[in-house]
Amino acid sequence: MKDQIICSTCGTYFLAATAPNLCPICAEERQYIPATGQGWTKPDDLCRDHSIKINKIKESLYEIDIIPTFAIGQRALLLLSKNGNVLWDCIPMLDEQTIDFIKSKGGLKAIAFSHPHYYSNMNDWAAIFHCPVYIHENDAEHIVHKGEHINLWKGEELELWDGIKIMLIGGHFAGSSILHVPFLSKEGSILCGDTIFLSPSKKHFSVMRSYPNRMPLPLSEIRRIKKRMESIPMDSFYGYIKTQNLDVGVKQVFEDSMERYLA
Ligand SMILES: [Zn+2]
Ligand SMILES: [Zn+2]
Repeated sequence: MKDQIICSTCGTYFLAATAPNLCPICAEERQYIPATGQGWTKPDDLCRDHSIKINKIKESLYEIDIIPTFAIGQRALLLLSKNGNVLWDCIPMLDEQTIDFIKSKGGLKAIAFSHPHYYSNMNDWAAIFHCPVYIHENDAEHIVHKGEHINLWKGEELELWDGIKIMLIGGHFAGSSILHVPFLSKEGSILCGDTIFLSPSKKHFSVMRSYPNRMPLPLSEIRRIKKRMESIPMDSFYGYIKTQNLDVGVKQVFEDSMERYLA
């Protein structure tokens, strides 16, 4: 890979020769530059003291994490499907054992994203697995390096195969999306990133403009998202970290949570 540096706060990769002074993803109001200033690291340094852990959540669904946690700390989800596997979101690291594992499961037919906070080293993942990266066009301005594999999609949803759909929700980012999977559970599952955020109690969902900066969305947006989600069948939920799995009462918890905003 070319000479790259990584923002230590969000995990976005930049070409070292053309990197800005401040990471634009973190300088934007939904993230933050730490009080200690912009931090950078290099892929070799990251790999030296971190590893990748792959864990099976259920049949056809794996989570991929960096250990110990780095930057935002999101997981990537590997969805296995008959007509091609999908990687949902990226982690900012990739090693041989992870590449071998994914290849042993049939490789990737697509990488799809919830939103810009997880773009990481997406161009490297796409080059290794020779697959397209699907990003909603509403978030195009946040792509640091628009490599040849990046495909911007438009509209409310993009059907992939085997009934799998990327669905635009908006809110946190104008292009914030979810992946809807019909075959992991009875009603359907959503892979979510932080488009919707499940609290540690698992009894509340929040939808915010910024989670780290605690910036709310306007009530009109909450109303719109509530309505949008009502039309989407789901009985299981997989958020941006491993403590955000829920497969009991998902619809009810979501509805009650949105009512609390609007009361
Ligand atoms: Zn950053
Ligand atoms: Zn985010």
